[in-house]
Amino acid sequence: MSLFQKSAIALARSPGVGRAMRALAARTSLARRFVGGADVAQAVRTAVRLREAHGIRASLFYLGEYVADADAIEHNTRQAMQACAALGQAGLDVHVSIDPTAIGYMRGDELGRGNARRIAAAAREASAGGRDWVVLDMEDSGLRERTCALHCELLQAGLPAGLTLQARRLGTPADLAWTIGQRTSLRLVKGAFPERALDHAGRARIDQAYLDAAAIMLSPAAREAGFLPVFGTHDDRLAGAIMALARERGWAPEAFEFEMLYGVRPDWQLALRRLGYTVRVYLPFGQDWWPYAARRIGEHPRNAWLLARSLNTE
Ligand code: FAD
Repeated sequence: MSLFQKSAIALARSPGVGRAMRALAARTSLARRFVGGADVAQAVRTAVRLREAHGIRASLFYLGEYVADADAIEHNTRQAMQACAALGQAGLDVHVSIDPTAIGYMRGDELGRGNARRIAAAAREASAGGRDWVVLDMEDSGLRERTCALHCELLQAGLPAGLTLQARRLGTPADLAWTIGQRTSLRLVKGAFPERALDHAGRARIDQAYLDAAAIMLSPAAREAGFLPVFGTHDDRLAGAIMALARERGWAPEAFEFEMLYGVRPDWQLALRRLGYTVRVYLPFGQDWWPYAARRIGEHPRNAWLLARSLNTE
């Protein structure tokens, strides 16, 4: 899997492949499956539909990553801020996810930090008292320390900042130790950027590391701190173990969340809702869908069939 996933990441980052994909079709089946709208208004409509029809919450994510162009960085920042305002107006959670490399970290930490503050301030302003967070995605290992530092800085400024940590990384328990003592939202994922020297080896060990981290996130110390545990996974075996642990430790279903990607295992999303759990989808919107979609192929090679079908029929 690692080789396949690495190849998918290389394809995701290739500007030439990206241009070719966008030229082939504005929105292929692959994009329609995983992208919730071409602009903020469409994405919010999708979020309203999910909330009204199924009680599923959303985190909006404007597509674009590893961006070095100053105008594009400003555009990405404004899209995230507009998403905050539009979510607030629609009476939904003001919940957005951001990639540090989309909002300035490719040009310098100062720019990225300033833009992250603008987005978090916009979220705070739009807040109508829902579960409102600006969650920092975790990208490759070169960004890890800087992303954790940014999270800490935003929290210290009283801004509603959340963080993503990757269970596959050997260093995650150390980052978790500080985070569970904060009033913050922490999304735990397996990790989409494999790096052999920094990771647990093999699926079984990564799954075990995920459960070990989940046990820390569901500790009494975390609950006392007002910490919100978020389990970003489509893996029903892991979710089952987490549900059992949460029950055993007295965590109410609304005191933590399961979060999944828009378009991935919608049946399982609905099943968890029916069981009374809080479910959120990570809802990407915008035009730059290829790097995101390529990563979904890396995680789940069967998604390549959606791409093949698009190229044959669209
Ligand atoms: P897996 O074992 O990979 O999958 C479990 C089952 O889910 C599979 O058997 C399959 O049936 C299904 N499935 C999983 N992925 C797909 C897919 N793409 N398409 C179709 N079916 C699928 N990674 C980061 O490195 N940084 C981040 O900031 C980050 N943010 C994320 C936010 C959310 C809300 C989620 C859900 C994931 C995020 N990821 C992030 C990706 C994550 O690291 C994993 O790569 C991804 O979630 C697949 O792992 P899994 O836990 O679902 O388990």
